[in-house]
Amino acid sequence: MASGRVDLDGNPIKPMTICMIGAGGFIGSHLCEKLMAETPHKLFAVDVYNDKIKHLLEPSSLQWADRIQFHRLNIKNDSRLEGLIRMADLVIFFALICLVSAFWLVSAFWLVSVEIGFGLSSLASGSGFCGSFESFSLLLSSSFSLFLALMLLCYFATINLAAICTPADYNTRPLDTIYSNFIDALPVVKYCSENGKRLIHFSTCEIYGKTIGSFLPKDSPLRQDPEYYVLKEDASPCIFGPIEKQRWSYACAKQLIERLIYAEGAENGLEFTIVRPFNWIGPRMDFIPGIDGPSEGVPRVLACFSNNLLRREPLKLVDGGESQRTFIYIKDAIEAVLLMIENPARANGHIFNVGNPNNEVTVRQLAEMMTQVYTKVSGEPSLDSPTIDISSKEFYGEGYDDSDKRIPDMTIINKQLGWNPKTSLWDLLESTLTYQHRTYAEAIKKAISNPTAS
Ligand code: NAD
Ligand code: UDP
Repeated sequence: MASGRVDLDGNPIKPMTICMIGAGGFIGSHLCEKLMAETPHKLFAVDVYNDKIKHLLEPSSLQWADRIQFHRLNIKNDSRLEGLIRMADLVIFFALICLVSAFWLVSAFWLVSVEIGFGLSSLASGSGFCGSFESFSLLLSSSFSLFLALMLLCYFATINLAAICTPADYNTRPLDTIYSNFIDALPVVKYCSENGKRLIHFSTCEIYGKTIGSFLPKDSPLRQDPEYYVLKEDASPCIFGPIEKQRWSYACAKQLIERLIYAEGAENGLEFTIVRPFNWIGPRMDFIPGIDGPSEGVPRVLACFSNNLLRREPLKLVDGGESQRTFIYIKDAIEAVLLMIENPARANGHIFNVGNPNNEVTVRQLAEMMTQVYTKVSGEPSLDSPTIDISSKEFYGEGYDDSDKRIPDMTIINKQLGWNPKTSLWDLLESTLTYQHRTYAEAIKKAISNPTAS
């Protein structure tokens, strides 16, 4: 599993200890699985929930039981967070090595300088110059062990996934959204910066907001020009709507934490990588309302449409389903994150779009494709009217707004990590809807036949 693994430059990959905050969520659960199954790394999995990673934590006889520890804590108000980021026990151990090596180093310097002084005066007086060889070797070995200890200190990373990140919350719970995505992330950035820990922070493609092209007249030929819609990490502007469109509270909070991390890198040398996911989807995403989440809850589009299909209801197209998205299979995206984790020299200091530009559809096309795929995997015919239009005000409430189109530019991630997504939209929907049907169809049937019980 672990032996013989090399990074993109052919160097052996050393085992790491990773503190993953938000490990119990959709992305976190897939990343935990990948790290346990394919790497030797150790994991502190931090979250308030662990339902989605239970299979990795129990039974304790699993082969990776000694490599994963779950810590149930809310990063808003738990003083254990700093300890976990610093990995107190290991830091103390390495600090000891550093201290001993530093002590050797100072003594060796002292011996060498005394001997040089002594040597010069003894040369002048014509007597011998002995002992310098031992002192020089002490100097060399102590410098080497100090270097080694400092190197070992580098093999820790913190990954921050914790966030409120469902659009239905952005305009209805804007304060919680801003606190979660900015204020609560501040201590994580601070502890990493102060303790010299590498940080991989999850931001969002929503940071780009609307495309430049969306402001052109509908019939402008420039709308077809990629310069007006492809989203580039180092060139595209961030275009949000007015403050009263509270939809943008999330994007704005994510933007400010990105800027803060970038500034910590520039001013204080924080080693960071920022990930901008473009609609990652797959099994375990969000919840099915009334089954493993609140009946009135509104998850992201994959779970909304899955819920409609499972319940044999029409899929609701917000404002006609004209917005465009590129969807990427979670397993492809996790490959990219693992490359970032294991190639710090190539990933540090970078912001990466992670998406699949080949899987672009309108939300209406997504609904049509999901309906076809679900018919195939469930064996149930589709409804005569499989979709229904609904206004954003009715679906999300006041203050909703939308990103019109999201195509990631892949130049930076290609160049730094040589990564490309593989899975087509049809294939990823087939495996995801097979999972949804297997996991939820029976529970939904029961809930429908006995509505008071759920
Ligand atoms: P998710 O909601 O499934 O996971 C987030 C996890 O963070 C949850 O398990 C939640 O319990 C945990 N969490 C939240 N606040 C916490 C706190 N105060 N203390 C401890 N744990 C806390 O979401 P996800 O889809 O896995 O997204 C992970 C990250 O990726 C988020 O930062 C999100 O903004 C970003 N992102 C994801 C997508 C996507 O396509 N899935 C798109 C854009 C951005
Ligand atoms: N959407 C929809 N019907 C639903 C849920 C979402 O039409 O039942 C639309 C939503 O308005 C947006 C797109 O689907 O245009 C994607 O929504 P999602 O919640 O997945 O998050 P986003 O991509 O906007 O961050």
